[in-house]
Amino acid sequence: MKLITDPNTLAGLSHDEAEWAPAGTPYAAFRPQSTKDVQEAVRFCAEKHIPIVPRGAGTGLSGGANAVDGCLVLDLSRMTEVVEIDRDNLLAVVQPGVVNDDLKKAVAAQGLWYPPDPASSPWSTIGGNVATNAGGLCCLKYGVTRDYVLGLEAVMGGPVEYGTAVRLGRRTTKGVAGYDLTSLLVGSEGTLGVVTEITVRLRPAPRPADTVVGAFDTLVAAGQAVALATGRGLQPAALELVDRACLQAVEDWKHLGIEPDTEAMLLARAETAEDADGLVAAFTDAGAAWTERSTDSTEAEALFAARRLTYPALERLGPLLTEDVCVPRTQVPAMLARIEDIGARHGVRIATIAHAGDGNLHPLLITPPGDENARVAAQAAFEDIIDGAFELGGTVTGEHGVGLLKRDGMIRELGPDAHAVHRAVKNALDPLNIFNPGKA
Ligand SMILES: Cc1cc2nc3c(=O)[nH]c(=O)nc-3n(C[C@H](O)[C@H](O)[C@H](O)COP(=O)(O)OP(=O)(O)OC[C@H]3O[C@@H](n4cnc5c(N)ncnc54)[C@H](O)[C@@H]3O)c2cc1C
Repeated sequence: MKLITDPNTLAGLSHDEAEWAPAGTPYAAFRPQSTKDVQEAVRFCAEKHIPIVPRGAGTGLSGGANAVDGCLVLDLSRMTEVVEIDRDNLLAVVQPGVVNDDLKKAVAAQGLWYPPDPASSPWSTIGGNVATNAGGLCCLKYGVTRDYVLGLEAVMGGPVEYGTAVRLGRRTTKGVAGYDLTSLLVGSEGTLGVVTEITVRLRPAPRPADTVVGAFDTLVAAGQAVALATGRGLQPAALELVDRACLQAVEDWKHLGIEPDTEAMLLARAETAEDADGLVAAFTDAGAAWTERSTDSTEAEALFAARRLTYPALERLGPLLTEDVCVPRTQVPAMLARIEDIGARHGVRIATIAHAGDGNLHPLLITPPGDENARVAAQAAFEDIIDGAFELGGTVTGEHGVGLLKRDGMIRELGPDAHAVHRAVKNALDPLNIFNPGKA
C-alpha cells in the first residue's frame, strides 16, 4: 500500500467545500485503484484502529469528507472505470470515482440517461453521490440518487471481518429479498463502509424540454408561484429559484449577459406543453413581473449554467455557510419570508438558491473574510433557519448530508428513540467506529 504523507497533498485531501466545518490532520492518504486495494486499506486500519475517511471529489457541503485527526483518507477518485453499460437492461456498473457527468456522457452515447444531476455534476463522483444520496435539479420529477441505485459492492466490517467486500442489491428491476441494505448504505456518508462499485438504473434519453422563466419582485412571490405550480399538479423536470444576489455574482464573474432586474427568478424545464402553459399561468397568477417561454436550448442552457455557477461565484465574495433545509412545498413562501427576516435580524447577507420545486432551499450566508463578528452572527442565523424549517414541518438537510455541520440538527430532528436506533445500526456495522467517525 503506497501511502501519501506529503503535508501539502494531505492538506488538499483533508476537507471538502464546507468552509466552516473543522478538519483534522490525517496520518496519511491512500488512492486505491481497485476493490482489493480498498480491502487491504480497511484491514490495515482495523488492525491498527485507524479511522478511515473516504472521499470522492471533495465537493461535499457538510464536512462529511473532512479528515479526523490521525485518520487514513481513502481517496477513491482514481477508481474511474465504467465497468459495464447494459443497454437492453437499462443499467450501468461503475467504480465509485467515476464523475457524474462522465457517466452521463458514457450512457448518452448509447441513447440512455442517468438522471441524478447535482449542480456539482461536472466534478462530483458517483461514489460521493451515493454516499450522500445526492439530489439535484431534476429530482423533482425523476427522483434522487437512491432511486437509481440497484446494487452496491461495499467494503465493510462489523458482522463480517473488516475488509470484506459485500455485494448488496440486485440487477433486476424488482427484488425484495431481505432488508433493503442497499438503501441503508445510500446516504450513509462513509460511516458504514466504503462503496467500491455501484450498479445504477438508467432511463431512455430525456425528452426535449421547454424552458419557462419567471421574474419576481420579491422572493416570497416566487415562492408562491412554486406553491401554486405544485398545488395545480404540474410536473416540471426542474424548478429552480435564484435570487438577485446569486445572478449578480455570476454575472460579475462570468459576464454571461444576464441582467438581474428583479429580486428572484424561477427557472423551469417543462417536458409537456401542458406543463409549460401551466407554469406560465402559475408564475403570472403569483404576480411575476414577466415570464418567458423558450424552446431555444442554447438560451436555456445559459440560464441553467448560470444557476450551476452560483455557488463558486458567491464563494469569491467570502466564506459561505451553506444551508440545505427542505420544507413541504406549500411552505416555500413562508420559509423564504423567514430567511429574509432572519438575515435582516442578524445583519447577515444571505443569497438564496433553491431546488424550489422540491422545497429544498439553499440560503448561502456570506461573511466578509476575517470578520469574527459577522461569523458569529451568521452562525446564529444558520441555527435560526434550521429552527424555522423544523417549525414549518421541514428537515435539517434535504440533500447535502449531515457531515459535521448538521449533526446537532439531525439529532434534534430524529429525537431520542430514532437516534438510538440510528446509533445501533452504526454500532452493529462498525463496532470499531473506524468508518468516518464523528459524522452523521
Ligand atoms: C457547486 C456545488 C454544487 C452542488 N450541488 C449539489 C446539488 O445540486 N445536489 C446535491 O445533492 N449536492 C450538491 N452539492 C454537494 C456535493 O457535490 C454532493 O454532496 C456530492 O454528492 C459529493 O460528491 P463528492 O464526490 O464530491 O463526495 P465527497 O465530498 O468527497 O464526499 C461526500 C461524502 O461521501 C463519502 N464518500 C465519498 N465517496 C465514498 C465512497 N466511495 N464510499 C463511502 N463513502 C464515500 C465521504 O466520506 C463524505 O461523507 C454541490 C456542491 C458544490 C460544490
